[in-house]
Amino acid sequence: MHPSFLNIDTFPDFKSHGLMMRWTFIALSVTLWLSCNTHQTPPAKSTTDDISRQADSLSFSIDYLMGRFNPATHPDFVRIAPEHCDKPDMFLRRDAYHAFVRMYRAAQADGITLIIRSATRPFQHQKRIWEAKWRGERLVDGMNLAQAIPDPVQRALKILEYSSMPGTSRHHWGTDIDLNAFENSYFEQGQGQHEYEWLVAHAHEYGFCQPYTAKGPQRPWGYNEEKWHWSYRPIARQLTQLARTQLTDQMISGFQGAETAPQIQVVKRYVLGINEDCF
Ligand SMILES: [Zn+2]
Repeated sequence: MHPSFLNIDTFPDFKSHGLMMRWTFIALSVTLWLSCNTHQTPPAKSTTDDISRQADSLSFSIDYLMGRFNPATHPDFVRIAPEHCDKPDMFLRRDAYHAFVRMYRAAQADGITLIIRSATRPFQHQKRIWEAKWRGERLVDGMNLAQAIPDPVQRALKILEYSSMPGTSRHHWGTDIDLNAFENSYFEQGQGQHEYEWLVAHAHEYGFCQPYTAKGPQRPWGYNEEKWHWSYRPIARQLTQLARTQLTDQMISGFQGAETAPQIQVVKRYVLGINEDCF
C-alpha cells in the first residue's frame, strides 16, 4: 500500500477527477485484497522445525480429541476451497490445510492431482456412519452386520476394519484427509499408482504421513491399510500423544456398540495402532 493512502489530508478532496480515479482504484484494490484474503492463501513456506515448534506450543482438550466441536465455527478451522475437494462444506485446520495446498501445488507441477474426498468429521458425523453399519442400514462387504454378526465384539471388529468408533477417529482432529479414492486397488495401477508413489516420495516434505500402512510385524493391530488416508503429522502427533496419555477405553461412549471398546482395547490397538512414521 502506498504511504499516501494513510495521509488524512488527501481524504476529503474529491473535487479533482484525478483524485476520484485514484480513490476508486484504491477502493477496488482494497476490495480485491479483502476478497483474496477470505480464501486462505498459504503463507511462505515454513521450515519443518518452525512448524514443529509452533505445533508443540498448542494444547488440546479431550473434547477436541474426541471430535466434540463444530469445525464450521471453530476459529482454527477453514473451509476447503472447491478446487481441492469433491463436495462443499469440508473443513480442515488452517495449518494442515496450508500444508496441503503447498503439497497440492507441488503435485500439480508433477502432473498429479490430489482431491480431498473426506476431511474433518465431528463425533456426530462419525456416530451416523458407525451406527448405520452397526444396525445394518449401511452394508459392510455386502453384509447387513446386524443379521450376519450378532456377537457385539465381532460386529464391532468387522466395522473397525475401515471405520472408527465415534470419539476415536483421526478425522475428528482436522489434520487428516482421504485423497482421490477409497479403494487400495485404485492406488495399485495406472494413474492411482502414480499418485500413491508421488505421495510416498513427497508427502513427508509437506508434513504428511500415512498412518494406516499394511499390517505386519511393525503394525500388528489397527485398521486395514488405507492408501488414501494422510495425516498432517506436526499437529496429529500432539493429539496421538494426548490419546496415549489421557484417552481410555472407558471414555468411549455415546453410541450403539460402545460397550465393546474395553474388550477390543480400542485406544491401544486402533488409535495407537498406526505407522510409526506418524508418531
Ligand atoms: Zn480416512
